[in-house]
Amino acid sequence: AVVARGMGKCCVSGCGDIKMDEENKKFELSGKTYREGDWISLNGSTGNIYDGAVPTTDAVIGGEFGRVMGWADQFRRLKVRTNADTPHDAAQARKFGAQGIGLCRTEHMFFNEDRIPAIRRMICSDTVEEREAALAVLEPMQQSDFEGIYEAMEGCPVTIRFLDPPLHEFVPTEEADIEKLASDMGKTVAEIKNIIAGLHEFNPMMGHRGCRLAVTYPEIAAMQTRAVIKAALAVQARHPDWNMVPEIMIPLVGEAKELKYVKDIVVKTADELIKAAGSDMKYLVGTMIEIPRAALTADEIAKEAAFFSFGTNDLTQMTFGFSRDDAGKFLGAYYDKKIYENDPFAKLDQKGVGKLVDMACKLGRSVNPDLHLGICGEHGGDPSSVEFCHRTGLDYVSCSPFRVPIARLAAAQAAIKEM
Ligand code: PEP
Ligand code: MG
Repeated sequence: AVVARGMGKCCVSGCGDIKMDEENKKFELSGKTYREGDWISLNGSTGNIYDGAVPTTDAVIGGEFGRVMGWADQFRRLKVRTNADTPHDAAQARKFGAQGIGLCRTEHMFFNEDRIPAIRRMICSDTVEEREAALAVLEPMQQSDFEGIYEAMEGCPVTIRFLDPPLHEFVPTEEADIEKLASDMGKTVAEIKNIIAGLHEFNPMMGHRGCRLAVTYPEIAAMQTRAVIKAALAVQARHPDWNMVPEIMIPLVGEAKELKYVKDIVVKTADELIKAAGSDMKYLVGTMIEIPRAALTADEIAKEAAFFSFGTNDLTQMTFGFSRDDAGKFLGAYYDKKIYENDPFAKLDQKGVGKLVDMACKLGRSVNPDLHLGICGEHGGDPSSVEFCHRTGLDYVSCSPFRVPIARLAAAQAAIKEM
């Protein structure tokens, strides 16, 4: 429900009064049967469910609320960015006062029906040539997405995170999709099934994702760099008064040499393009700190990074050693038995995960005093976690568009508390 709210959706989770009949697409509540297409309304704050469509208004910052937010902005030291993958979300976040994008997840741009075939082709390629051909289809899509996002952000900083797709979310499972992919790629269904079987991972969250993809397939990082840089050059040409400095973020790094390897590809590709365009545009290459080893070796990693962004979703799952997708099944027992007070994926565990964040900030800045520090895990929109980020000396928090106002307020409260 918390994540849904951050996405601007209201949610009532776990309504035990509903008798669901999923197979027949109907449910019963308070003696009434609702079928697919019938209206109900939800109040995500109280958990109430109403019969019919209750009139609603869109959330806006204005009036007294706007005044309080204006006061908050005078006090806060932390900047507030947003996690957005589309021009629509970026524009929404700007309206709520976001000062940039702290996380643009590039794999999210491929979930649409019309795009997923292209990324499946890339994933199921078994030669560099095949992969390059699939990437050539993806490149203009990415470039136009990035241009749209840059336009929506009107020259504010935008951090683009390179591909981090847990592969199991993309490979086809339906027979019809497998057949289509086989015919798209000129392969047999058996060949595609073989490739898919080879991609199977027992633990995809700890599998072939993040920068590991770019280490095995450098052409992916090269394509994404071209898309980012070409988009920034095009937008800079359209808006000479904006100072475009694209920020490229390498995910899931756990070793400095891993980052250096991917960064070298980015730098070579970007420098060639910028030179060929006769431009002097600057760009930054940084990394996410989301694996405990990255936090522990942050002094080495910081030598190769212009910025760190704490990916506290993964950092939490890897520090606790439980999966963010599965922990919901047993965390209830931990709350009942008073072992944990809250969901560590919603509220940053300051004692453990926070210690790693603090350590990484200190280690990183000890070798790179200009290192820019932010957070882009879900915790970036949680008030107690925002206060922790303030105390720890981060430069910004980044959260879902609809959580931007609460992050602005929490950042101001944290600053005022110190006065
Ligand atoms: C994170 O791990 O905190 C993060 C922001 O990346 P993702 O949620 O995409 O893994
Ligand atoms: Mg992550």
